[in-house]
Amino acid sequence: MNERDSEQVAQTFAERGYTLTPQEQDADAILINTCSVRDQAEQKALGKMGMMGKYRENRAHVVYGFMGCMAQSRGSELFERVPHLDLVVGTQKYHRVFDYVDSILSRRMETRMDEVGAEMVTARVEDEVIKVNQDRIISARVVDTEEEEGSQNTIRDHIPKETQQATAFVSIMQGCNMRCSFCIVPDTRGKERGRPIEDIVGEVKELVAKGVREVTLLGQIVNLYGRTEFPKVDGKSPFVQLLEAVHEVEGLARIRFTSPHPIGYRDDLVAAFTYLPKLCSHIHFPMQSGSDRILKKMRRPYKNEKFLTICEKMKAARPNLAITTDVIVGFPGETEEDFQETLECMKKVGFDNSFIFRYSKRKDTPAAEMDEQLSEKVKEERNQSLLRVQEELTIPKNAKLIGTVQQVLCEGPSKTNKETLSGRTSQNKIVIFKGDAERMSGQLLDIKIEDSTGYTLYGTPEIH
Ligand code: SF4
Repeated sequence: MNERDSEQVAQTFAERGYTLTPQEQDADAILINTCSVRDQAEQKALGKMGMMGKYRENRAHVVYGFMGCMAQSRGSELFERVPHLDLVVGTQKYHRVFDYVDSILSRRMETRMDEVGAEMVTARVEDEVIKVNQDRIISARVVDTEEEEGSQNTIRDHIPKETQQATAFVSIMQGCNMRCSFCIVPDTRGKERGRPIEDIVGEVKELVAKGVREVTLLGQIVNLYGRTEFPKVDGKSPFVQLLEAVHEVEGLARIRFTSPHPIGYRDDLVAAFTYLPKLCSHIHFPMQSGSDRILKKMRRPYKNEKFLTICEKMKAARPNLAITTDVIVGFPGETEEDFQETLECMKKVGFDNSFIFRYSKRKDTPAAEMDEQLSEKVKEERNQSLLRVQEELTIPKNAKLIGTVQQVLCEGPSKTNKETLSGRTSQNKIVIFKGDAERMSGQLLDIKIEDSTGYTLYGTPEIH
């Protein structure tokens, strides 16, 4: 979701005449979109912003800003951590970033820096003073972390790509009304707010007109999309209604969504996989723990049995379905028995892949205050055990695909080796192959799988 939000902000700059640069030392404005899910991510963002302060030595006008979850949760406290910081913009204000930056930047460019001690009030950034002291800009100190009605509808523009774009993310909602005890998202992203179906379909149509073949619908709890705003129709949830509407878009070949929650994963959504063939044969379905005791402590309002039942129903609805998951290992109070239940559950479902996170404390969350915090050593041991189990599941599953022909959507040159192309199967497995990027990007190709290195498949396009 952060990637999608960043793209939206970048596009607002591009359409108003700014140029995006991959060279941070050339930039007039440097913005970091931050994540608060793990403490490590916050520390990394703070470190990076600290280091980049040096660019102001030669280019005094450079504007520095934090956006996103850390900006939302920490607000003006960030100015104390990073003295050269100008801007802190929260998760409901991405659409305001351009005005703030442009305003600060143009005032800086206009001001003669030899006016020692001058103070400037920016045009749009009311009440904020850019402090200039002894020829040096200190900081603009603009903070905007207010809630804003309708902000979910502002994440809708895409940066035109130089090469054929095969896939795109589409943000369908913002926020989350759940209160998982380890998660800071409800505080940083606010309440669930869905975009109207017509707006989302309009965005998908525009993407398809530009050549996009696959969209991934994004939401914190995507399957609960619209539950507080839009009614059920014929027993179908707003999310299933949305899937049906997006499915209608001509020229679109594939639909994915992430991430659903076991709560609200009802039979209408299971059934959608039987009559909407554009829905890919893959779901990313966060389990978090296989122990009911830990799920309760996590405030995840379902039992392991329910999670397993949904997986079984989904496999019956789409026999070749791949399921991937998120697991938090080493949650406060997790005993060896709880951990073994998680391990067993991973084997029982037979996940195609999983993202395993060692529990890390997030400030202002109930789990951070819980007794029985586990040592890093125990968390790491359990993490390694789960990784081994996942490897034992993934390697043979992918090896079984050798010799088969898979339909792959070519996404263009591989990120790691530009000499090769990469794409994904409907089950979301990455396939690397050789071919002509210009001709094949955005095409659905039949690829004969010839090798697997565990998580990545290698093959050759079939010539028809
Ligand atoms: S469902 Fe739980 S983990 Fe997911 S965003 Fe909401 S509170 Fe966080």
